[in-house]
Amino acid sequence: MVAGQEFCAVAEGGRHLPTAVCYTARVLRKWMKIGVPVLVIVVLIATGLYYLMNARTFQLAGHVVHRVDTDAKVVALTLDDGPTDRTPEVLRVLAEAQVPATFYLNGADLADRPEHGRSIAEAGHEIGNHTYSHRRMVFVTPGTVADEIETTDAEIGKTGYTGPITFRPPYGKKLWTLPRYLADHERVTAMWDVEPDSGKPGVTADDIVAETVDRVRPGSIVLLHVMHGSGASLEAIPRIVAELRSAGYEFVTMSDLMTR
Ligand SMILES: [Zn+2]
Repeated sequence: MVAGQEFCAVAEGGRHLPTAVCYTARVLRKWMKIGVPVLVIVVLIATGLYYLMNARTFQLAGHVVHRVDTDAKVVALTLDDGPTDRTPEVLRVLAEAQVPATFYLNGADLADRPEHGRSIAEAGHEIGNHTYSHRRMVFVTPGTVADEIETTDAEIGKTGYTGPITFRPPYGKKLWTLPRYLADHERVTAMWDVEPDSGKPGVTADDIVAETVDRVRPGSIVLLHVMHGSGASLEAIPRIVAELRSAGYEFVTMSDLMTR
């Protein structure tokens, strides 16, 4: 014992600890009692929001399509982002394979390269809205959502395309304001059930073909990123088309698929 030191009146573990120590212990115990349940709740809410914002098959409002429930052997090929300067090559590959695709394009890229947007429309492919700036559409205001979607619709209109325009959220992310806007404007959220090249650096055309052929089932929506990256996704297209056709599949656009 140190002379002059004060000790707690209540014994802790059979010992009378110095006042400062037992005071700290008491405060810690109190915070643990409140803090642990609060932390658990925060983690649960954050986990729930994370799954909700990334869910492919569910959103809080509006119509989301990640595949179509059908026995018919139909599949939609959907190509995200751009248009970039790779567009002529992409269109050549699709023309040679005689396959229709649905392009989810960004308004800013259309504004930068209007000639590529026009050539996609002229080739008869479907065009979808993938926002103006390709930003994550979570924790955004209703004004931002409206602006991202409407400015992109306007750019799509300038390509000469007049067909249906479904919407695909960048990174597949959505929470509340985006689905609410889409529901209010009767717009379809077009997700996917097969994504052989997403977030896989170094993936080869062989891998992409194998995963696509393995995962596609009647009514599937395949997502490929052909506008940038190594070129493996574009290289995979003729083989995906050949293999699925020989298995009896017909390729259709996103809006065609939704009528099956
Ligand atoms: Zn994208």
